[in-house]
This record gives sequence, C-alpha cells and structure tokens, in this order.
Amino acid sequence: LVVLGIETSCDDTAAAIVRGNGEILSQVVSSQADLLARYGGVAPKMAEEAHSQVIDQVVQDALDKASLTERELSAVAVTIGPGLSLCLRVGVQKARRVAGSFNLPIISVHHMEAHALVARLIEKELQFPFLALLISGGHNLLVLAHHLGHYTQLGTTIDDAIGEAFDKTAKWLGLDMRKSGGPAVEQLAQEGDAESVRFSIPMKQHKDCNFSYAGLKTQVKLAIASRNIDAKVPLSCASSLDRSSRADIAASFQRVAVLHLEERCERAVEWALKIEPSIKHLVVSGGVASNQYIRSRLDQVVQKYSLQLVCPPPNLCTDNGVMIAWTGIENFRAGRYDSPPPTNDPDDFMYDLRPRWPLGEEYAEGSSDAR
Ligand code: ATP
Ligand code: FE
Repeated sequence: LVVLGIETSCDDTAAAIVRGNGEILSQVVSSQADLLARYGGVAPKMAEEAHSQVIDQVVQDALDKASLTERELSAVAVTIGPGLSLCLRVGVQKARRVAGSFNLPIISVHHMEAHALVARLIEKELQFPFLALLISGGHNLLVLAHHLGHYTQLGTTIDDAIGEAFDKTAKWLGLDMRKSGGPAVEQLAQEGDAESVRFSIPMKQHKDCNFSYAGLKTQVKLAIASRNIDAKVPLSCASSLDRSSRADIAASFQRVAVLHLEERCERAVEWALKIEPSIKHLVVSGGVASNQYIRSRLDQVVQKYSLQLVCPPPNLCTDNGVMIAWTGIENFRAGRYDSPPPTNDPDDFMYDLRPRWPLGEEYAEGSSDAR
C-alpha cells in the first residue's frame, strides 16, 4: 500500500508519500510564512492563490523524492476539513485530478484526526483508546479517541487557541515572524524569568476541560504597553534592558499558557479514565506541540497517572502531508474510501468540503453514556 497525502487546509501546501507499514517515502511542505509575516495573518483569497501556484510542484516533488510515478500509488488521501474552504478546494481538486487520471481511490481526511493519528505512525504501541491534546493555531482540543473515526470531545476553546496567543505575543514583542510566532516566543522565553510578570491562569473557576486564551492575550498586550516596549524596534537592536523585559514577558506568558494546559489535561485524564479505563497514552500533537517546554511539563502530568506521553517530532506536529497520507492508510484499511472520480469532473464546484467539522461528539459531564 502506497498513499499520497495532500494538505492545503490553511497556510501550508503539503504533500507526502507513505507506505502501509509507516515508512515515509517523501515529505514536502511549501510554507506561506513570508506572506503571513507581511500581512499579519491568513487572508483566504491570497492563501488560495499561493496554494494554487505551488500545488502541482509540491505533489511532483513528493513523487520525485519517493522515486515513484502516479501509477505506482495505491490511493490518494486529502484533507476535506476543517479549514478555509477556498484553500481546501485547491487540495481536493488536485487530489481528484490525480485520482481520476490514474484510476485511484480517494480518501477524505479530517485535519484534526490526522494530527492525532500521526502519533500511531511514530509509536507502534499506541492503540485505541487514547487521550489526545491537539494544540495549534486554530484549535485547542482534548479528545478521547475510542477508535478510528469515533471521538468524544472533552474540551475545546471558548475563544482563541493557544497557538494564536503565541503568535500574537510574538508579534507584539516584535519577534521574527518569518517562520511562525511560537518558536520565537519559546526561544526568547529561555532567557526570561517566568515568575516576573504575574499573569492570571484562565478559567480557574470553571471545573471543566475547556480552554480560553483571549484573556491571556489581552493581559500580555497590557503588560507590553505598560512597559513601553516598541515592537517596531527589532530585538537584535534593542538595548539589553529592553531585551530582558521582553524575555520576561515571553517566559511568563509561556508559563501561564502551559499551566492552563496542565490543569485541563489533569482533569481530562481523570474523566477519560472513568470512560475508558484502559487508556495508556496521552498524545500531544498540532503545531504548538513542537514546544519542548510544553512537552516536558505535560510529561510530568501524565507520569502522575502512569500514562505515557506521545509527541510526534516537530515536523509531524505542524501541518504536513505525512499525517494525511497515514490517516488515509488507516481509513483505507477500514474500507473507508471513495471510488476514483471521473476524469472530466463535472462536480468541480460541488466537492464535499467540510470547512467546519467537529471531531466527535461533545462530552456532557455526568451523563452515563459519554459517547
Ligand atoms: P489548525 O489549527 O487547523 O490545525 P494551523 O494552521 O494552526 O492549523 P499547525 O501547523 O498545526 O497549523 O500549527 C501552527 C501553530 O503552531 C502556530 O500558531 C505556531 O505559532 C505554533 N507553533 C509552532 N511551533 C511552536 C512552538 N515551538 N511553540 C509554540 N507554538 C508553536
Ligand atoms: Fe493543523
């Protein structure tokens, strides 16, 4: 089994080829980080154009790096949601073109399920059921994975995701955004005193597993304003005093942002063990899971419960084609795929895109049947 995975749900155009045994034959990501840095966010129309410009090349590069032609593929997997519909369409169109021309089955993939399931590619011991914390720019989810396609959502964000808070903190501190904000904040935080700025932990009084990062974002903004830090002055040119106060804010923000995750994860583990007592793993994935400080803090949380932490390597945590190909493989094996589309596709504008697509049912605490 050899599957091509295509991902265009947000700002990265990605493709990869993976074998049924989990061997990664190739992986290509074309990032729009430069566009993002210039315009300060994702503009759907611009992102769509950027995907359209590179999609053919990205897929071709994935084939070339794997030394394969389309004829040697078994199936094509593609993200159909959640994400920006204009962007999703570029990937789906490409996937249907390849599948149609070479008579290949096509597999529809849920982007967040793929963030979770890629952990099963790197950790072969990871069986269902397991608990997953999915943290990225647009999502902050705690889900109990019962089996393929079957999830209970224990918590989500009521406003912003943690990645959004990292990105804004980076922007307001004037950090280098050419990659994304998260890694820049993580790096600067290493120089700072995490106890120096007293940010309050969100939602302490809510004894649930939901998240909120909008208030913390505002606290950071106010802290920066009250210290008269000028984000237009690059970090490298700033006086050492300015640099150290920015580092203190980065470190204090990161500490509290992660304390919020820790508190929610502890509760989620307790809930999850009641619903599925056999769980042995907490998967932490999504772009923000690349953060080493987060990994080490969450490792301590799971140790208390004798669970094991599974974090994919950073290049499989941020958006990538491997996770789409792998989730495609899992679905293919379960018989969940569509027949090859017709070559001259009459339904061009009627693709089954799912821009808003929740991962599983919401958990109502106290209900006897959580599913
Ligand atoms: P979605 O929300 O649809 O999954 P996304 O566009 O947010 O997708 P991802 O690649 O999954 O894409 O996550 C990107 C986010 O991860 C950005 O907000 C980025 O700042 C954050 N991030 C990446 N590396 C780190 C890090 N080391 N520390 C903190 N945040 C990070
Ligand atoms: Fe993502």
